[in-house]
Amino acid sequence: MSALRNAGHEPVYVDYSFCERLDELDSMVAGCGIVGVAISAAAKLERAALVSRHLRSVAPGACFVAGGAYPSIFPENSITETGSDYAMLGEAEEAIVELADTLGSGGDPATIRNLAWLDEQGGLVETPRRPVIRDLDSIPFPARDVVDYDSYLREGMAEYGMVTSRGCPFHCIYCKPSTDLIFGGGIRRRSAGNVVEEAAGLADLRGSDSIRVFFKDDTITMHPVGWFELFRDGLRDRGIRLEWHCNSRVDTVTEEKVRVMAESGCHCISFGVESGSQRILDFYRKGTTPGQAVRAFDWCHDYGIEATANLMIGLPIETEEDIEATYELLKRLRPDDIIVYFSTAIPGRHIHTWARDSGYLASEDNPELFDPARNRAHEVMNMRLPYLTTEDVISWKHRIERYRAWRKMTSIDNIQRWASELLQNPLGAARKAGRVLRGLGGGRAD
Ligand code: SF4
Repeated sequence: MSALRNAGHEPVYVDYSFCERLDELDSMVAGCGIVGVAISAAAKLERAALVSRHLRSVAPGACFVAGGAYPSIFPENSITETGSDYAMLGEAEEAIVELADTLGSGGDPATIRNLAWLDEQGGLVETPRRPVIRDLDSIPFPARDVVDYDSYLREGMAEYGMVTSRGCPFHCIYCKPSTDLIFGGGIRRRSAGNVVEEAAGLADLRGSDSIRVFFKDDTITMHPVGWFELFRDGLRDRGIRLEWHCNSRVDTVTEEKVRVMAESGCHCISFGVESGSQRILDFYRKGTTPGQAVRAFDWCHDYGIEATANLMIGLPIETEEDIEATYELLKRLRPDDIIVYFSTAIPGRHIHTWARDSGYLASEDNPELFDPARNRAHEVMNMRLPYLTTEDVISWKHRIERYRAWRKMTSIDNIQRWASELLQNPLGAARKAGRVLRGLGGGRAD
C-alpha cells in the first residue's frame, strides 16, 4: 500500500475476512483500476474466490490480481479459481507499482517481472522473477493509517503485526519450499533502528506510547543478541513501551538473547518444539533436539517470558513411543501454553509430495484439510496412519490438552498473567479462560 501511495496511486484496504456480507465491500472497489486479493494459504482460496468473483461483478472494468503466499506457489490455480487477470509472484512492492503505472499509461504488463497469467489457450505464462529486495530498510513502512484497527480491537485482537526479517534458512519439510518461493532462500534482516522507527510511527498513530505487537517473522531470533540490545535501547530512548511476542526455534536462542529480549518487552515466545522424539524431528529435517528445547524453555522461565510449545502429532511414520516421548518432554519443558496440531500435508511443501508419493495422502482434493488450525479444531487429518489409529492420535491430543489445562490452572505465573490481561483486555482474557476450561474437559481446544 505504501509503495503504491509513494508512487502517486490512491490505494484502499479492506480485510475481507471480517465482512459478513460481500456487498459491504462494493463501495470500496467502485472506481478502482486494480483490485488485489490476498490469499495467504490453500485453506483461504475458497473464500478469496468467492470475494473476487463477487467484486468482478461490481467492478467489471478493473484488473484483478491475486497476490500473497498461495498465488506465489500456485499461480495457475489462483487465477482459475478467483477469475483473476494476473497472479503476483513473490515480493510485490515493486511489481504492483509497475503494474499500476503500466496499466495507467496503456503499456504492456508482459514486461513486468513477478507476474503470471493464462494465455488464450489457458496455458500459464510467467515472467522472470526479479531479485528479492536486499535492503529491507529501503521498503516504506506499512500504510497503517488505511487499516481500521478499531474493528480488530472490538474483536479482542489487541495487538499489531510487524516483521523484522524475511525468509528462513532452515529446511523443515512441513514448511519448505513454500517460503523460498515467496522470499527466496536465506534470511534478510531489517536494522533494529528501522524497526524502532516503525514502532514509533505506530505509537504516534495510535496515540499511545505503550503498544502490543506480534512480530510475525518466521524466526526473529535469527537476529544476533546485539540487534536486540540496539532494539531495547532504541525503544527506551524513544520512550516506547513495547509488549511483544514472537515465534522461534529452540536452537536460535541463547540465555543472553532471551534476557535482552525480555528487557526489550518480549513477554511470550512460541517455540516450534514439534516432537519429543529425535527420530521424528530428524524426519521433519527440523535440525533441533529435545535437549535444546529444555534449555530454551528453562531460560524463558528464568527471565519471565511465557513459553508456548507448538507440537505436531499424527505423522504417518509416528508410533505410540514417539508420542509418548513428546508427552514426557512436555513435563520437562513446563510450558506456559501448548498448542497441539495434527501433522498436515499442505500442497507446495515437501511433506505433501512425500505423503502423496508414499500413498499416505488421505484426500487430494479437499482444501479444508490443508488448514492445520481447522484440522486441530475439528479433529480431522489428511494423512493415513499405518502404526496408529486416528482415535489413538485424537486421544493423545486430548491427553496433552488436559495437561495444558492443568498447567494453566496451577501455574502461579499463568494466574498472575491472566489477572493482568483481564484488566487490560477483558474480552481476550475471557476467551482464553474459556479455552482452558474446555481443554480441562478433554474435548476440543477451540
Ligand atoms: S518451520 Fe520455521 S524454521 Fe522451519 S523452515 Fe519453516 S520458517 Fe524455517
